[in-house]
Amino acid sequence: MRQPLPPVVLVLAGHDPTGGAGLIADSESIAACGGWAVTVPTALTIQNCHNVVRVVPTDAYLINQMVDEIATLPVAAIKLGLISSESTLEAAISIIRRFPGVPVVADPVLKAGGGAELSTPELRQQYIERLLPLVDILTPNRAELAALTPECQSTDDDTARAVALLSLGCQAVLVSATDDPLPGNDDQVLLTLHSPDNTRQWPWPRLPEQFHGSGCTLASAIAARLAVGERLLTACEQAQHYTWQSLSHGYETPSGQFLPNRT
Ligand code: PLP
Repeated sequence: MRQPLPPVVLVLAGHDPTGGAGLIADSESIAACGGWAVTVPTALTIQNCHNVVRVVPTDAYLINQMVDEIATLPVAAIKLGLISSESTLEAAISIIRRFPGVPVVADPVLKAGGGAELSTPELRQQYIERLLPLVDILTPNRAELAALTPECQSTDDDTARAVALLSLGCQAVLVSATDDPLPGNDDQVLLTLHSPDNTRQWPWPRLPEQFHGSGCTLASAIAARLAVGERLLTACEQAQHYTWQSLSHGYETPSGQFLPNRT
């Protein structure tokens, strides 16, 4: 029987051959959360389940050409992942501007779980100044939040850092304390949504394993839920439930980080 096309999420992200993170993670999450992923690679990465070995940014002309060909599809949300060069950042900005009013979810992928740097200070500055004002919801972990707010270096206060990002024009910031437990919260992962009129927190039991692609899973799930028409708060809540399920049923690898089970 014919079915209507699910709401389309345009994904601009890197390809991770392990399938843990990047475009594969995004496609799986988006499909599971009721959307249809249209994937445009911003970079190829060479990596294993421990760390990223090399990143090769996609030519900006190719990125724009891929988007030209899918632009007739009814894009209902945009998800941004790895942006590893100034020309890919430029392409992402111009693509967002082609879809006015479409919600943009950005996962600021600055470092691999294994520690490899995936950005540079100059690129980060461009990301802050030029991309953030176009973003509806940014989904950093605590280290990414700190890296994006160097002017708040003296404070450990995530709220001050999130407010600094909101003042740049980003509409909301969902901070995951997965990488760095908040004081007194060693057995919990707190996710905090900061928006101009609201702060909302969700505690989740901390899992003992390290996961590859948890940030991609969460951000893509939010994008899909926004694409299907949910409000931001509900989208964030539903996406966390989905991510928690994916991680708590995650796959063990022979060595290295676990992989989310997004089925
Ligand atoms: N996207 C790509 C292509 C990556 O290689 C990585 C990490 O290595 C990420 C995103 C971020 O992964 P995570 O969701 O674990 O933060």
